[in-house]
Amino acid sequence: MNKSMKPESLMMSYGYKPELSEGAIKCPIFLTSTFVFKSAEEGKAYFELAYGKREKLPGEEMGLIYSRINNPDLEILENRLRLWDGADDCAVFESGMSAISTVLLEFLKPGDLLVHSSPTYGGTDHFINHFLPKIGVHTLGFTSEMSEEDLVKAIEETGHASTFAHMHLETPANPTNSLIDIEMCRRVADRFVTDEKPVTIAVDNTYMGPLWQHPLKHGADLVMYSATKYIGGHSDLIAGAVLGNAENMVRVKTLRTFLGNMASPHTGWMLLRSLETLKIRMEAMQENAIKVADFLSQHDKVASIKYLGLLEEGTENHRIYKQQCSGPGAMVSFKIKGGEKEAFKFLNSLQLVKLAVSLGGTESLAEHPKTMTHAGVDEAHLEAIGVTDALIRISVGVENYEDLIWDIGQALDQVTINVIETA
Ligand SMILES: *Cc1c(COP(=O)(O)O)cnc(C)c1O
Repeated sequence: MNKSMKPESLMMSYGYKPELSEGAIKCPIFLTSTFVFKSAEEGKAYFELAYGKREKLPGEEMGLIYSRINNPDLEILENRLRLWDGADDCAVFESGMSAISTVLLEFLKPGDLLVHSSPTYGGTDHFINHFLPKIGVHTLGFTSEMSEEDLVKAIEETGHASTFAHMHLETPANPTNSLIDIEMCRRVADRFVTDEKPVTIAVDNTYMGPLWQHPLKHGADLVMYSATKYIGGHSDLIAGAVLGNAENMVRVKTLRTFLGNMASPHTGWMLLRSLETLKIRMEAMQENAIKVADFLSQHDKVASIKYLGLLEEGTENHRIYKQQCSGPGAMVSFKIKGGEKEAFKFLNSLQLVKLAVSLGGTESLAEHPKTMTHAGVDEAHLEAIGVTDALIRISVGVENYEDLIWDIGQALDQVTINVIETA
């Protein structure tokens, strides 16, 4: 094909050759552990490439060896995922957490300093604060309120600036939708680069899917996903993905080979199917979310709302949003007037919207971050980041928006507000 096509046009066919699979229009599930070599010489050549013993010859392609190293369902999936972020290469994992933890383990060693945005997803927070210190990694968290100069100063004050090696960012942050300026972080990281060490930046882009934000274009080295969320999109699988340039991805894929935490061929196949509708699903969810957020913002039982589409002009968050995101997404957080009692009454009264954690699926989900997804974060910190008793998070799905608004409206009607505490 000469014309360069948009990713959504290529999700049904890219990277798959029907003639290798009896002409089947769809890629079959390759449930096989190992692959037959045509000759011993061919087996030797594939292993030389797999273990990095030599560079590829001109036109040489890596062959299939063993499903922990490569498998057609995963390779085709990785090639298609690359298109959304414009990355050289991609690696898919058995979960978002295995993608994130593999990157942290590969780009950090004992004595190094990790700088990370805060809040982060609960599992990431646990890995950073409870596992990495055990292997001698120093950590520094920062919030979206910190300026460029404050961040540089905080890094210098750790006493570990000379071993600052890696940055982990999550933007928009779950569940507050607060934004981190990736380009600003690139400038900060570059101040600490020396001849001996680079400073890599990895962004957890789960909240914006691969559609509404492309961190590699803003100076990140790696972009990571919980593919369980928008990429999978049907709440029926667990998976993760990492994308970046060829050099960094060789490192990620090599560690994946030895940890053995790649996705299964079956999950790979499910994700191939999901990718065909990624764009229309995400756009439908966003259209619904804009209407739901608008309804909530005008409701008298709602104290405040956090949605990227309703950021106030002139604020730092609005500036970052304009610079870095192409749409407001489908995650809406709001504070109900009252506290836990009122929030629970609302959640227990929903009929169409399901009460569950997770996000990015076709069905709308609602949850209470303080006692559910963020139950592991310490109390003082929760308050500082705005996760209060009154906060409710909704992942808006593809249902009819009038039905969603009816459901949310009737659930709010069930809530009686006696004492009006401002949340
Ligand atoms: C869900 C999630 C993860 C973890 O992904 P799993 O697939 O559940 O392992 C990481 N980051 C964010 C922002 C998430 O929402």
